[in-house]
Amino acid sequence: MEDSPHALTWSIVFLIAIINSIFNVGRELFPNRDIYWILVNATSLLQQGLALAGFRQRARLPAFPAWLIGYLVFIELLIIWFTIVDHHMGLRMAFTPFSAVIVLSACAIVIARSNHRLRAAEIGAIYVFVIYALVQLLSGSAALMQGAEQDEIYLSYYQQINFVAAPPAYAGIGLFSIFILADDLSHKMQRLAITDQLTGAMNRRGFDEAVRRAKAQAKRENRDLTLVLADIDYFKQVNDKFGHQMGDEALVQFANILGNLTRTEDLLARLGGEEFVLVLVHSDLAKSMEKIEKIRQSVEQHEIRYLNQIAKITCSFGLYQINLEQDTVKEAIRKADQALYLAKRSGRNCIKPYQQDPSPPISIVGG
Ligand code: GH3
Ligand code: MG
Ligand code: MG
Repeated sequence: MEDSPHALTWSIVFLIAIINSIFNVGRELFPNRDIYWILVNATSLLQQGLALAGFRQRARLPAFPAWLIGYLVFIELLIIWFTIVDHHMGLRMAFTPFSAVIVLSACAIVIARSNHRLRAAEIGAIYVFVIYALVQLLSGSAALMQGAEQDEIYLSYYQQINFVAAPPAYAGIGLFSIFILADDLSHKMQRLAITDQLTGAMNRRGFDEAVRRAKAQAKRENRDLTLVLADIDYFKQVNDKFGHQMGDEALVQFANILGNLTRTEDLLARLGGEEFVLVLVHSDLAKSMEKIEKIRQSVEQHEIRYLNQIAKITCSFGLYQINLEQDTVKEAIRKADQALYLAKRSGRNCIKPYQQDPSPPISIVGG
């Protein structure tokens, strides 16, 4: 719930819908019809405002901007005006449905403008909003056609539209609100399943999928792809010297450096422990070496601060430009790992490309 405040907002919309129905059923109990009319419209406008506020919360926009509150108050004041001061039957009945047309369109726009590809539940909700907006447009028009005084024919049109079309449309909105909540939740679960909880980078499972897609795309577009394995040097000592929490903080900040110094299309995953993998897209070995050298320097200079302590780390990198025709992902990782091993053996805090035939290890134990 803490990151779905709109679920609560939408529940309140349905609560107010119940109050609205109670007002309608018990209209004879109000001291006079004008008070009933002003209150029942206030509850309708509140529902409109909260429904839109919920969609704004979902889109991480401010829920109740001043203009939205001002707008709802303004419409309510118009209704009060044409109910009490300058009695006009058509207008006092038309404002709320016409306002619904505007607010429902605004809801649809907020959904449509989201920065991801629209999902089925969202597209469904947009359709339902447009249909409900059309119903409200008809209902408001019938009301307005009455003119200043009550007109039995247009009033009966208004009532028929409201009784026939409005309930299913309203039920549709309720249904799609629940679809959207369920769909958002399933999407969040999918994202969690492929994310490393500590650093926010992809985990192994997410990487396996993403790298396959990146590889297929690079092959289609005939672009270079370089795989980089990064392993923090003597990381065990960071834990031993500063504690495990400083170690965790180092992993988070290290992942941030990798993420910040690469492009959004590049892939970053934590393969486990203090080992990360980067896939640099549209980047051949030479360009990748340059980029990784900058990252290496950046890591070396960075101070990790945690609870009044300062730790410094370095990292070794192994690079391999994937042969898109021949290498499997597993093969590419194996080659990058071989390069990483070379970097570790060369004294750490350095970057090494994969070499076809690395010179045989020099034996330090004389034979
Ligand atoms: P090298 O330079 O050879 O890579 O040495 P290293 O100490 O970095 O490598 P080693 O594989 O010996 O140690 C990795 C350490 O990483 C051991 C483990 O305690 C630590 N580690 C693994 N996962 C985590 C984690 O999630 N948090 C913290 N704080 N430490 C972790
Ligand atoms: Mg290490
Ligand atoms: Mg390691």
